[in-house]
Formats: sequence, structure tokens, C-alpha cells
Amino acid sequence: MKAPKYLVIVESPTKEKTISKMLGSDYMVLSSYGHIRDLPSSKLGVDIEDNFKPSYIIMPKAKKLLPDLKEGAKKTKLVYLATDYDREGEAIAWHLQKALDLPDTKIKRITFHEITQSAIKEALENPRKIDLNLVDSQQARRVLDRLVGYKLSPLLWKKIKYGLSAGRVQSVAVHLICEREKEIAKFNSLEYWSVHAELEKEKEDKSHFISNLFSKGTVRYEKLDVKNKEAVDVILKDLENAQYVVSKVERKEQRRSPLPPYITSSMQQDASRRINFSAAKTMMMAQKLYEGMPIGDEGNVGLITYMRTDSFNVAVQAQKEAKKYVEEKYGKNFLPEKQRIYQTKSKSAQEAHEAIRPTSVYRAPNDIKKYLSGDEFKLYELIWQRFVSSQMTDAVYDTLSCDIKAKNYIFRATGKTLKFSGFLQVYEILENDNGKEKDDKDSSLPDLIEGEKLSLIKLYPEQHFTEPPPRFNEASLIKALEEHGIGRPSTYAPIIKTIQDRSYVRMDQRRFFPTQLGSLVDSVLAKHFAEIVDIEFTAGVEEKLDLIAEGSSKWTKVIEEFYTPFSKDLEQADKNMERQKIKPEESKEICPKCGKPMVIRDSRRGRFLACSGFPECRTTFSIDKNNDIIVKPAPEATGQVCEKCGKPMLKRFGKRGPFLACSGFPGCRNTKRLPKEDGNKEQDEK
Ligand SMILES: [Zn+2]
Ligand SMILES: [Zn+2]
Repeated sequence: MKAPKYLVIVESPTKEKTISKMLGSDYMVLSSYGHIRDLPSSKLGVDIEDNFKPSYIIMPKAKKLLPDLKEGAKKTKLVYLATDYDREGEAIAWHLQKALDLPDTKIKRITFHEITQSAIKEALENPRKIDLNLVDSQQARRVLDRLVGYKLSPLLWKKIKYGLSAGRVQSVAVHLICEREKEIAKFNSLEYWSVHAELEKEKEDKSHFISNLFSKGTVRYEKLDVKNKEAVDVILKDLENAQYVVSKVERKEQRRSPLPPYITSSMQQDASRRINFSAAKTMMMAQKLYEGMPIGDEGNVGLITYMRTDSFNVAVQAQKEAKKYVEEKYGKNFLPEKQRIYQTKSKSAQEAHEAIRPTSVYRAPNDIKKYLSGDEFKLYELIWQRFVSSQMTDAVYDTLSCDIKAKNYIFRATGKTLKFSGFLQVYEILENDNGKEKDDKDSSLPDLIEGEKLSLIKLYPEQHFTEPPPRFNEASLIKALEEHGIGRPSTYAPIIKTIQDRSYVRMDQRRFFPTQLGSLVDSVLAKHFAEIVDIEFTAGVEEKLDLIAEGSSKWTKVIEEFYTPFSKDLEQADKNMERQKIKPEESKEICPKCGKPMVIRDSRRGRFLACSGFPECRTTFSIDKNNDIIVKPAPEATGQVCEKCGKPMLKRFGKRGPFLACSGFPGCRNTKRLPKEDGNKEQDEK
């Protein structure tokens, strides 16, 4: 075997596998297994006195790899740094150059949106230098986050509770959730009524339909205009013995355009609503699809384009292929007259990226289903459908709007029927963030003619109450972060994970609730670090990071502009912030063991009832979703460790009494009988 001439370094072993099968024996491919250098975890690692100079260290996990990478570089004449095509990938490439101590002449940077034979070939034909602006932007993000995390956290330990941590962007996310909770708490629900008439055609088929009270004379009823039962009764009385006559019929055609192909945020939102994936899971599956897998005779191939992107761009080749596919599969009628171009909304239009799409639409989901895991398939199918539909014609509806006069009142009925499915042939539109479809999707009305008399079957009012804004779920939180300009393709999923890991919010029935801890930390930050929780401010910082990437701002300047006021706030807060304690909610329950009142505490696992005599008395009870107290004590810590997985063992209460169970459940199902002396031991310690 002849020795390889070139070394290609990627950041993941799967990518290594896919790419090495595509390149010939001239190339050796190695993986760096992610970042190899980073700031040290034991100390700040940023020299504030020396222009925020970061001191990077080789990460412990990379120490074993480095000799192999160095050896590979030594044996070859050129090193291609083929890490992912974004700021983070650029930074990894730069760190690799530094850690391997390679001169500029020895390295070339290559990037691609998809891991396919043709994309890799093209990338190798068009190598470039490392883009130091992208690297600096990434460094700036890392350093800013480090400064906030490592400077703010100790203050929180001192003033609130040991072990807390605060982060830059996640504090804003927690703030959004806390603000929403306040809005809900102070929300005043208003009563309002609607009036409906169920009508029947007198002639022909006698079909029924429902119409809604629309106006009195020319005055239109707005949502809250009919305020109470009395107001309804007046209307009902007025309408006694009324004749119902069709007064106006309006037929129209309505078109609906497809949605653009996915970018990171829309993919995460859609996967959350349609297939119940968390943002983290979506990104994990997308990464697998991107990095590739063996697909029958084709061998290893990446199935989708790069999954961290905020651009709607579609490569010309991919557009052509989609056009051909749609025509072959669905017919010419389903092709728009002009190729659809989607404008990228994001101001930062990061690094000339592409939207997320299948690397070939000819790999139809069902054809490759057998090569994918269930979850990989679900996400692939969504990405494929969304992309193909984005290249198709509008859906066309016939709409019918019909006014019905009854005395001086007007009722209105609307109907909609799908005339031409267009893109809906491939991808269905969901109307709300719960993933439920609107019920008027396809509501047809009978044929109605102006002047036609109708008979009233039923006149009925309905009482409603205005509802507070809903709590965020993953999809709506990502949407809010994106709309406020806070999130970036690489940050949505980590933000959502972090705020839960840190117990600042908890998820209940797929909605985010702030915990007592989260609310407390948020109020403290809002008071002493207004900018950290300020949405506009944080969006401004993100914009500045984009400017660094474009080369129009210097990274140290951006950090300085942030750090100077921040360090003043820190000083002030250290002096002025009072020691805070989490105030648990009171309850009416009394502890059965010691007679002290019980309080409601919460954790990321949910709310529970705990004795206020803690830590002397450790009685706890669970609370279920209906706020019913379950007289089954909540699991208790035991100090014992699971011998199977090393996680702490909990004392749980089952039908046959207490037992020990691994806290790693359901990942680890280890359970044990409780040692008998458990009760006495507690006594001894006192
Ligand atoms: Zn007690
Ligand atoms: Zn275990």
C-alpha cells in the first residue's frame, strides 16, 4: 500500500468514516473528536488586564489524540482542515492548526454543506485559508460567555445558594419564561359571548350549516362586544320570529404558498410539534443524517445538508433536481411557473450557508427507510417533505363567504374547499403551536343563492372567556428567541437544555414553568444586572458577534464594551445585593411526623410538598398534576450509590413499602431491598 499524501481532519468519527470511504488512498482521514483546545475549567482563563487574552489548554480528552494527529501531519505533505462549515468549525480548524503547530503553508481549509462525493470533490478543488474573522467571532462568544459564567456564578453562590450558575444567553431565555409567568398570574380573564345560527336550506338537499353573528346594521361585532348573558338575551329577543335570508354570496379563490425549506430554528420547531422531538434530539438526529451512513449499494453518504444554518439558500443543482423529481412524480401542474426563491430573513445571513435539505430528493424517505433508525427516519421524512414542497405550486382553495340577514342582524358563514392540492400533496401545514390542525381547514358550505330563504334550526349563544398567553413550549421558545434576535443556529438547543439542567425552569406537560429558584435568580439578575436579562441588549451583542464574523468589528472591542459596564454592575451587586433565600410557597398541610407546616417546593422534576422543619424533618409528599397531594412520600436521597451505573440510589415507596431504586431510572432499572437498620441509623446521627 502506498503512503497517503494528504491528511484530512474532521471533528467527528462518523464524518471520518463517511469521508474516508469517499476519498482514495491518497488521503488519510482522522477525527479530532470535537474541540481539542478550550479555556480551562479550573480558572477564568481570560486575562482581563491583557486585552482579554484567552489562555487555551489542550482538553484532557484530546491529549491522547494529539500524537496521532501530529504523526499524520508529519507523514503527509498537506493537511486539509475539513471541520464543519460554521464559526465553531472554523474555530476548531484554527485550534487544530495551533495545537498541531502547523505553518500556514502546510494547511488548507475546506468546507462543504453536504457530505457527498461531489461536494467533497468540489471542496478539495476550492480550498481556502482559515477565516480569522469567523474564528474571532467564535472566540468572542466563548470569552463573553466565560466572563459572565465565571464572574456571576460565584456571586450567586455567595448571595443565594452554592453551586448556582448564570449564563449570558440562557438568562434571557429564563427571563422570557418568568415574564410570561407573571403575565399569566396577573391576567384578568374577560367574559364574552358569541351567537350562532344553525340554518337549513329549504330546497333541494336540506343541508345544514352554521353561521356566526357578524354585525348589527353596519356595526360589526368585535370579539369582546357581547359581554354577558343580558346582552345575549337582548339579541335573542330581537331575533324572535326573524326570517333568515341569504343577502350576499361571495366566491373567491384563495391560494396558499408553501413554506421555505427548513433552517435550524424552523426544523427544531416543526420537529417539536410534529414528531415530539426535543431541540437536542432533533439536532442529534440531524447530525447523524448529515454525517452519513451506509445506504445500500451507495455506500456511506450524508443524507442532508449541514444542520446549523439560518439561510434559505438552495444550491442551483438541488433546485434542478427537485424540479425534475416533482415533474416526474407529480406532474407539470405541480411545478411553479418560476422557481421559488426564499429570501433569508436573518440579517446576519451566516456564512453563505444553505437551507437544510436532502442531499438528493431521489432518496425518497420510504426508499431508504430500511437503512435508518425510527427516529432518523422521522426527521429525514420531515426534511424531505418540507424541501420538496417548498419547490412546488401553491395550494388553491375555493372559498365561499355568505351573509344571512335576520331582521337588522347579519350572520356570516364561510366555507373553504381545496380545489388543487399543490404542495399540500407532500407537506401539510399545521395551524397552531400545539400541532393540532384548525378545524375549519376544509369546511364546505352548501350552494347558496342571494335572496334564498333559510329555515332556522337552532339559535344558540356560547359563553367564552379570554385566555392568558400560553406558557412557552420548546417550539414557541425557539421562535421567540429567533424573533428577538437572540438565538443562533448553534445555540437554540443548548439554551433549552441548560435552563432545565440548572433547574431554573421545569417542563410540565410540554410547557415551561419557572421554578422558585429560576424566578428568584431572574429577579435578582433583573435588579442588579439589567443588561444580562435584557432582550434588546443581548440581541445587540449577538449582532456584534455577527459584525466580527463579517470583519467589520474587532473582537476585543466587543468584549470590552460588554465587560466594562458588566464589571461595574458586579462590583455594585457584590456590595448591595442582599442575601436571598428561596421562599417556598405556603400550603395548608401539616407535617404528620413533626407537626410543622408543610410548604410547596419545586425542582426540575416537579412540585412537591416538604416539611418546613427541613433539614431536621425530611418528610415530603408528591403533588400530582391536579395539585392533589399523593400520600406517598417523594423519593429520598440515601447517600448510597448504584453499583451498576454509579448514580445515587433513592429511597422510593412502593406497594410493599420502601425500597432502594437507582436515580438513573429508566436508563438503569437497578433496585434493592432497603437494609433494615436504615431507620435506626438516622436516630444515631442526631
Ligand atoms: Zn416534619
Ligand atoms: Zn443504576
